[in-house]
Amino acid sequence: MNTWEYAESIESSSIVSIEKKYGIFFDGQFQSPNSKKYLKTISPSTEEVLSSVALGNKSDIDSAVESAKSGLKVWSKLSGTQRAKYLFKLARLIQERSREFAVLESLDGGKPIKESRDFDLPQVAANFFYFAGWADKLDISWNTKGLKPYGIVGQIIPWNFPLLMLSWKVAPALATGNVVILKPAESTPLTALLFAELCQEVGLPPGVFNLVTGDGTTGAALVQHPDVSKIAFTGSTAVGKYIQNETADRDIGLTLELGGKAANIVFNDAAIDQAVEGVVNGIFFNQGHVCCAGSRLVLQEDIHDEFVSKLEKRMQSLRVGNPLDKNTDIGAINSKEQLDKISSLVNEGIAEGGSIFQTDCDLPTDGYWFRPTLFTNAQPSYKISREEIFGPVLTTLTFRTPEEAIEISNNTEYGLSAGIWTEKGSKILWAADRLQAGVIWANTFNKFDPSSPFGGYKESGFGREGGRHGLLSYLKVQS
Ligand code: NDP
Repeated sequence: MNTWEYAESIESSSIVSIEKKYGIFFDGQFQSPNSKKYLKTISPSTEEVLSSVALGNKSDIDSAVESAKSGLKVWSKLSGTQRAKYLFKLARLIQERSREFAVLESLDGGKPIKESRDFDLPQVAANFFYFAGWADKLDISWNTKGLKPYGIVGQIIPWNFPLLMLSWKVAPALATGNVVILKPAESTPLTALLFAELCQEVGLPPGVFNLVTGDGTTGAALVQHPDVSKIAFTGSTAVGKYIQNETADRDIGLTLELGGKAANIVFNDAAIDQAVEGVVNGIFFNQGHVCCAGSRLVLQEDIHDEFVSKLEKRMQSLRVGNPLDKNTDIGAINSKEQLDKISSLVNEGIAEGGSIFQTDCDLPTDGYWFRPTLFTNAQPSYKISREEIFGPVLTTLTFRTPEEAIEISNNTEYGLSAGIWTEKGSKILWAADRLQAGVIWANTFNKFDPSSPFGGYKESGFGREGGRHGLLSYLKVQS
């Protein structure tokens, strides 16, 4: 059969203008870092240097805290309606400039433009609109006279959904009357820097939003600052544990959104083709760099062969390559370090006895790439069944009875999310009751809404983001 020739469709990057160098954002201005140090941010799909950003140190965090203190004096005097006006303005500007943000996110982080354009940016705007709507209704909801904002909130975000994580954190914090010092991930600072420009454009009072770029030492300095009253963190369980230890002797609010190893359970009565699609979306979305990724396929034994054969066929059609190509399904791995981590865990999976399937696609020569990968014949004790790989790698485990499916699914130190695929509503309710996970999807996966709380159990962290629960995380009982 003749096949059509592939024609790429590249989104233009000329819409974004990236400065050669960025400072730290406090007192409503970009300022040179006291550290006088910078680090380079690169595009993981080409290894091209995009810009240099400040490497903030303790003294830069001190400056941001002083700025936040003066911002708080102004912000705390505004009514909820006045705070809402700024948040609505930010939401509208994000919508207006969403193409620019999407291209920048794909350039700096490597994710496919169809995801940054059609998932990240609409969600970012939706979060700002949603929390803007709450700012003047807090009294109605909880009689907030007994509750007050923390004051200065430190927020540390990861590289997998840079602007979306910013919106999950910044919008509810500002809506509830807090001021923010944000530390974005070392490898993806550019959309947060563009967001700081938007704060200037909407006339947000200086000091209400502060941004200190840098590395892990910058994040640690933020955590250690005694005038920061709440830390909201998303990232690895190891750093989450460090933050919990570091703040144990302080009166401080803490939200930790950490890793996951979600089970996507497929029962033998599921609609197989839809379930294959859901499993593909569950693990290959955003290169598998997703804390709630369905990274364990928990499959009923009697449909194993049929399901795996359909899954492998579907995986072969995934297009890996240039994140700015509108047809790309899987973009670049975010960094060399993450690629090395994925490769090493996959090699361990092979050594332990797992059977590996990888797609035949061509990979670009420059940049960091990993083929969509499926393990079968894996045991629950294998590292690939237990550890968060955070890449496009799916591990299959099988079960015979529903009870066994639950036992296998809960046999993890994490508890962030899970998926259930079955035609029977009663089975969905039965399984959801027994799964230890903060978010459970049924006959779908990776569905998000700003009104829905998100967060984990066990080593996936504590506290909730999103919805009314997410707002409460930024309010404390008045002493
Ligand atoms: P980290 O937990 O190191 O990074 C998350 C954020 O924390 C980044 O902004 C990072 O800064 C910052 N940070 C690092 N060290 C400290 C510290 N001591 N104190 C305060 N902040 C700190 O994740 P990695 O980027 O190293 O990824 C490692 C693994 O973590 C991944 O392979 C994945 O398994 C998991 N992960 C989970 C995420 C989730 O959404 N739950 C998100 C990202 C990673 P910087 O980037 O500058 O080092």
